[in-house]
Amino acid sequence: MTNSKYGLLFQPISFGPKTMRNRFWQTSHCTGFGSERPGTQASFRGMKAEGGWAVVCTEFCSIHPESDEYPWHSARLWDAGDVINLGHMCDEVHRHGSLAGVQLWYNGSHSPNLESREVPHGVSGLPSNVFPERNVYDAMSDENDIKAIINMYVLAAKRAEEAGFDIVEVSGSDTTLPLQFLERRYNRRTDRYGGSLQNRARFYIEIMAALKRAVGDRLAVTTRFETDTINGEIRIQHYDEGLRFVELMHAEGVCDLWSVKIGDYEEWGEDAGSSRFRRVNWMQPFVLHVKRIVGPKIPVVSNGRFTSPDDMIAALASGQCDIIGAARPSIADPFLPTKIAENRLDDIRECIGCNMCVSRMQQQALLSCTQNATAGEEYRRRWHPEKFTQAPNPCSVLVVGAGPAGMECAMVLGKRGYTVHLRDSAPDLGGHWRDVARYPRCAEYGRVISYRQAQLAKLKNVEVHLGIEPMTAEAVLNYGADKVVIATGAHWATDGLGAETHRPIPGVDAGSADVLTPEQVMGGKPVPGDDVVVLDGDGYLTGVSMAETMALRGKRVTLITNMNNVAEFSRFTMELPNNKRMLNENKVHVMTNHWAHGYSPGTLSLYFLYRDTAGLYELEPGHWGRRPGTELKEVPCSALVLVTSRVSNVQLYRELERRRVEWARYEIQAVYRIGDCHAPRHALNAIFDGHRLAREFESPHPQHPLPFIRERQVWGHATYPKLGDPRPPVEVP
Ligand code: ADP
Ligand code: SF4
Repeated sequence: MTNSKYGLLFQPISFGPKTMRNRFWQTSHCTGFGSERPGTQASFRGMKAEGGWAVVCTEFCSIHPESDEYPWHSARLWDAGDVINLGHMCDEVHRHGSLAGVQLWYNGSHSPNLESREVPHGVSGLPSNVFPERNVYDAMSDENDIKAIINMYVLAAKRAEEAGFDIVEVSGSDTTLPLQFLERRYNRRTDRYGGSLQNRARFYIEIMAALKRAVGDRLAVTTRFETDTINGEIRIQHYDEGLRFVELMHAEGVCDLWSVKIGDYEEWGEDAGSSRFRRVNWMQPFVLHVKRIVGPKIPVVSNGRFTSPDDMIAALASGQCDIIGAARPSIADPFLPTKIAENRLDDIRECIGCNMCVSRMQQQALLSCTQNATAGEEYRRRWHPEKFTQAPNPCSVLVVGAGPAGMECAMVLGKRGYTVHLRDSAPDLGGHWRDVARYPRCAEYGRVISYRQAQLAKLKNVEVHLGIEPMTAEAVLNYGADKVVIATGAHWATDGLGAETHRPIPGVDAGSADVLTPEQVMGGKPVPGDDVVVLDGDGYLTGVSMAETMALRGKRVTLITNMNNVAEFSRFTMELPNNKRMLNENKVHVMTNHWAHGYSPGTLSLYFLYRDTAGLYELEPGHWGRRPGTELKEVPCSALVLVTSRVSNVQLYRELERRRVEWARYEIQAVYRIGDCHAPRHALNAIFDGHRLAREFESPHPQHPLPFIRERQVWGHATYPKLGDPRPPVEVP
């Protein structure tokens, strides 16, 4: 039953030869699954089709070995093996009545080709600015090379059709080759593919036209285009060549649908804008202007981290777009469309915009999600985000600690039919995440708590007890539960312990008035003086957030880290450039590659990590090493904020372990630990940990994960291609 208030979202819409059943389009997004993990890919994408996304696309899909981004995993349409593997995805998407799209990708200058070892062809024969340290160059294409590349697109589109895809989307985004031809920064040609905008647009338009001729009567031919690369002159600027290109290509009638974004490959965090830096629907003006150009007959897709149906309706009603595009909201909740249709809005698991999903790809790993522990686990662990096997013999479970891990575990156990008591000495749910959600810019992070709070409230078999006395081992043993889960979390080190030295920092003690942990800062402990030093050995969110918090309070802030960058991990979440801009705007003084030697009130003394000699010497007979440097730097420090590392709150678990022989007397069958009290990692790991334990609660040893399906070549089975097969043809037809 479709909720009539949101009826517009469920109206079919046509483009080219295809019609999608509603307005929910899962835009292409990275996963790390590619063509190499066909089961994971198919089940992950199929789940979104099942959840109501009418179009489900692959990630970027390489059309030929000339463009390969190994060890990052793209989809590929190189050969018959890829057709089989991606064909499985198409089958799964079709099984649920949705259309399958593939994003055709050839990256020219930015193709490291570490697997294929081919030479990429590009526009001008330039070094890649995306991989400046990797010695990546393209070879300038002559007209025959250009024809060959266009033919690669056509052959890939034919393979896409064979696999079952309904939509071929040309990536004219993320600085792929069509964009490189378009941008003056890359295009230094003097032939008919260089110079004027018309000339620079020729390659892109010729690709689209060739695809229309080859498959356009059967498949929709669409594009994803960035109207502004957000980095100034000689790049694409919206009011300049961004919109003029849209006019040009639209006039040619070669594009069935436009999917619009901003930002380029160097900084695609402007496209995958994190909630810390970009509000919902931040690309609105850019998309709106494209819609005005292409008119009512050509649909436009707009992304914008949409999770609220009211925001979606507003976007459609304003004339900005016809279709709601989403990558992250569809990862966090594959059933978002269905929940809107069924008016189950409080069941929506809203994306928090943390970009942990992106971070996995950026670490050359596999997608996972903070909010949705089942993302990427649909095939390899057979987890369904909305379905839970009922417990065969539901017993009573006490969960101690209502942080992300405890909440998730209690929720999943509850959905599985267990009788659960979730208990926490704090007055509210959320554990350490309550602090995180109050860091500057992090309000959306609160959804981790509010979603679980709403779900827990619906479960009649789950009781939540907050503000209780901290539970001792004695209290746990006497509680009367059959099984116990300890989720007591972690705390920030109070003595400066960190990864750099694995030792406390001399003179540092958060018990004194001028040394503070992040919990103490958030708890309101006064920060003395004007010169605040934030010492960050954690490298993610808390260090920069503490620096910003202090700057907002008018302090002079120095942020010191042992890493090469501030918030080094935010390289993976695509937030690093904006973190640097934010610190610069706040006049935070930054020192990298330094760590603390010692602290005395008023002064922090530091050393440069590489102050020892490069050469090795016999320092004394039989003892070789670097000649140690001794230089120290002193920074004024009226207050020191320690973001050095986190330490598990494992005492309760250890005490219960110590009293294991007594469990039988208290009729306790098992005690497990999850989340940060096991090891203090990012929240998505704590949540996963709680989820996994609850899913596998009846396994012989639930503390230890069951094996999952690994997808890889198994010896003795066929390979595609085989040695001796012809080279994928590129000759001009
Ligand atoms: P995680 O990220 O693993 O979920 P958190 O640190 O966010 O861990 O949450 C741990 C929660 O456990 C906190 O809310 C804390 O108040 C609670 N807690 C810790 N020890 C006890 C205890 N002995 N009794 C009750 N609650 C506890
Ligand atoms: Fe959203 Fe974070 Fe999940 Fe990505 S990891 S989908 S940004 S909640």
